[in-house]
Amino acid sequence: MIESEARNSTTQEVVGELRRRSSFVMVSHVKPDGDTLGAGLALGLALKRMGKRVHYFNQDPVPRNLRFLPEAQHVARALPADLPADTLFVFGDMSNFTRAGEFLPKVDRANMLDIDHHLGNEHFGALNYVIPTECSTGTAVMHLLREMKVEIDRDIATCILTTIMTDTGGFMHSNTSPGVLELSAELMRAGADKEEITEEIFANKRVAATRLLGRVIDEMKFAHDGRYCYSYVDDAMFAQTGGDGEDTEDVVNVLRSQENVEVAALFKAYEGELRVSLRSSGRVNVQAAAARLGGGGHFRASGLTFVGSLDEGFKAVEAALVAEGL
Ligand code: 5GP
Ligand code: MN
Repeated sequence: MIESEARNSTTQEVVGELRRRSSFVMVSHVKPDGDTLGAGLALGLALKRMGKRVHYFNQDPVPRNLRFLPEAQHVARALPADLPADTLFVFGDMSNFTRAGEFLPKVDRANMLDIDHHLGNEHFGALNYVIPTECSTGTAVMHLLREMKVEIDRDIATCILTTIMTDTGGFMHSNTSPGVLELSAELMRAGADKEEITEEIFANKRVAATRLLGRVIDEMKFAHDGRYCYSYVDDAMFAQTGGDGEDTEDVVNVLRSQENVEVAALFKAYEGELRVSLRSSGRVNVQAAAARLGGGGHFRASGLTFVGSLDEGFKAVEAALVAEGL
């Protein structure tokens, strides 16, 4: 039996549980990115090598730029009807299991393993492996793989390097430590193709995405002496440019990278929802600002869903940022 308490589990405890169970569902968060997918696929590949049964759940389709990942074609919203009762659901890269979306069937806490690197992780699993100092969830998974003594082959290395390149912004963010670079070198030696991953994730932009970016830049506003930059994207812009939700992923970073900007916000008003992405250059804690409005994330990158109009969202987010020192 595993205990239901909120403390973090040790690497040995988690690996012991992985060995005991025979069936797994790797769960990634809605609108999946390279970290949530790469972490789950890497661990799934390792478990399959150990003869385990593994399924991959995501409620949304795998984004175009991540379909190159090994096993990506097996990620699905539907789960088989014959899953054993003691199937372990492994949640990767999410502070709270609700980030898996409303299509995941109800899972007992006793069957939840939470692997993450978010500051505000709620330790919602029976086992929790939460390491906020890791640059990605994938590098947390790497500790488990070492303890499991699985061979890091080309496919697993590709998945883990993708988690790193996603969450370090291609080795540019402040979480790119010497250790991260050393691990990346090891993964390249194991067969991960950094060029291919760069090309697939970052250099594969559709023209529609660039036109959409142009519209967002048209609407860009500055406040607080130019330290705050924000803009929005809505259904009308998608209709004008042919872009879609996947094309909005990097846009907030363009806003953040304008000269003097300390905090950027992109308001995504489409499909009947208002999602907000926040980015900080390092002075203002945008995780704390997002948490004031029910969201979360990291010190420098966070997000939330706002219930209300776009104008109300602008005001509420600005107030939350001011409360955190903007
Ligand atoms: P993004 O802006 O790329 O959607 O999200 C940035 C970061 O904030 C990611 O680490 C993501 O997991 C986190 N995040 C985004 N939206 C939410 C949310 O609604 N709730 C929580 N807890 N975290 C979020
Ligand atoms: Mn992550």
